[in-house]
Amino acid sequence: RPVRTHRRRVLLKLSGEVFGGGKIGVDPDVVAAVAREVAPTVDEVEVSIVVGGGNFFRGAELSQRGMDRTRADYMGMLGTVMNCLALQDFLEQTGVDTRVQTAIPMSQVAESYIPRRAMRHMEKNRVVIFGAGAGLPYFSTDTVAAQRALEIHADEVLIAKNGVDGVYTADPNIDPTAEKISEITYQEALQKGLKVVDATAFSLCMDNKLPMHVFGMEGEGNLRKAIVGDKIGTVVK
Ligand code: UDP
Repeated sequence: RPVRTHRRRVLLKLSGEVFGGGKIGVDPDVVAAVAREVAPTVDEVEVSIVVGGGNFFRGAELSQRGMDRTRADYMGMLGTVMNCLALQDFLEQTGVDTRVQTAIPMSQVAESYIPRRAMRHMEKNRVVIFGAGAGLPYFSTDTVAAQRALEIHADEVLIAKNGVDGVYTADPNIDPTAEKISEITYQEALQKGLKVVDATAFSLCMDNKLPMHVFGMEGEGNLRKAIVGDKIGTVVK
């Protein structure tokens, strides 16, 4: 019978923006840098990653331009899988074992999403990368991050951000008096209409008492610090 280890277990959400380095497609240099930060943590922490796909397609945007929403959402989900494969490649180049699990079966490319198997992989120091979102149109990968974190019993959801290093009292790019908040409740985050993650993801975490850590990707070592548990951004709970 598998023995549950008592290491820290996290679920990291990386948006598509991270992979594209601000452009469409995958920037290998950026993905390699992400892999180099994740790699040293896997002996200490059980790491799983939900990958976004906004660097390829966003269903809502395509539907505004005339496409059927659900078909566009499936394109969005397929985009996330390309990011997963890029991350898998660069992680394995650092010597870390990985598995990609997708919510839409594609057996030549990845395993299907099987939560118990995902947990077993993590216990064996493998990084599990979750692709294709929830496999459901009208969902976002933020919500999937919360759901997967709950299902695999992660201790915390880590939300990696670009261009901002946590939650602020106002938009720091607009309001110069905005201050970084070190801790906030889900209730407040929802009341204030904060957009750092979707409301669905916030409420799923709130209802199930799962803490979240929102932090900035920029800066050498930040991603590694967040994974090992340094509170460098904002804790939402
Ligand atoms: N998507 C979906 N269902 C899911 C997850 C994602 O339909 O469970 C689609 C949706 O169209 C979304 C796109 O995939 O716009 C890319 O995901 P997301 O926008 O969450 O990526 P991110 O903003 O994190 O890069």
